[in-house]
Amino acid sequence: MIDLRSDTVTQPTPQMRAAMANAPVGDDVFGDDPSINELQQMSAEMFGFDDALFTSSGTQANLLALMSHCDRGDEYICGQQAHNYKFEGGGAAVLGSIQPQPLTNNTDGTINLSDVKTAIKPDDFHFARTRLLSLENTIGGKVLPQSYLAEAQAFTFNHGLKIHLDGARVANAAVAQNLKISDITAHFDSVSICLSKGLCAPVGSLLLGDEVFIAKAKRWRKMLGGGMRQAGILAAAAKLAITEQVDRLAEDHDNAQHLAHQLQSIDELKTDINQVQTNMVFSDFRTRTDINLLASELKQQGVLVYPSQQLRFVTHKDVSKQDIDKAVLAIKSKLTRS
Ligand SMILES: *Cc1c(COP(=O)(O)O)cnc(C)c1O
Repeated sequence: MIDLRSDTVTQPTPQMRAAMANAPVGDDVFGDDPSINELQQMSAEMFGFDDALFTSSGTQANLLALMSHCDRGDEYICGQQAHNYKFEGGGAAVLGSIQPQPLTNNTDGTINLSDVKTAIKPDDFHFARTRLLSLENTIGGKVLPQSYLAEAQAFTFNHGLKIHLDGARVANAAVAQNLKISDITAHFDSVSICLSKGLCAPVGSLLLGDEVFIAKAKRWRKMLGGGMRQAGILAAAAKLAITEQVDRLAEDHDNAQHLAHQLQSIDELKTDINQVQTNMVFSDFRTRTDINLLASELKQQGVLVYPSQQLRFVTHKDVSKQDIDKAVLAIKSKLTRS
């Protein structure tokens, strides 16, 4: 199967499996797991924070961040397209009694800071207390401009807000701009990073912040069932994700460019290559197409795509350039048939 549904499908590398088998472990709830402790110290240092916390998923890391920045009756501002607004089960509202204030994302993924300013609630008991701005980078595969991050950071500082980054794919954003991850994370009070997407770890995310913030997050993590005992087995793979898999993402980005170029030659599809900045490609249909039917036909040809309004393709370690050529042939044969 050529699986273009997501970079979450990546298999752990042989090195990861070996490291997992041999990882020294202890009870992490007692703080005794050497592999977890090493991962957290190392990532805090690498990404420029006081402290770090290993979490079960990106959803958990974002929820811990929202609950650690905001109390009951507080509010966070985010994009309409934000993963931590749209795709995380409303967890901040359900479990944190935190109100989301979503605002329109521009095509480049940014949110106008003038809109954020208007959305900040006055200090008045009619309103929730606005505490936090949450951004996402990459968002829909797009990289937020560094100048925008600097402006957003200064803006939040001047308005007494904290600023969080959902950096599920921040490593892709760094590689695409030839930057260190810390050049991006430096603009934020807290950051979540997925290790189980393009970075190929089997499980896990990181949450980064200052000591007080991480202590709060650790308390919430325990309460939410995230005290994971001998989780050093997972941390051993996670360590290789951040040390050995980051630079490799450049191949995924090249493959996404290659795919987008090929898709442009299919008349039935509209693929804007200028929007392809990392490992995601989106195509619209020029005519009405039953996308679920198309997805099931492609599956019969060994190509997996995720059906939604658009066709979304995600490149990753386990799809090669040749796989992409095969996938394009399959798509061509299905779309030009009738
Ligand atoms: C995948 C993703 C998450 C959530 O990560 P999970 O590990 O799947 O819970 C959060 N934010 C963004 C932007 C993501 O792409």
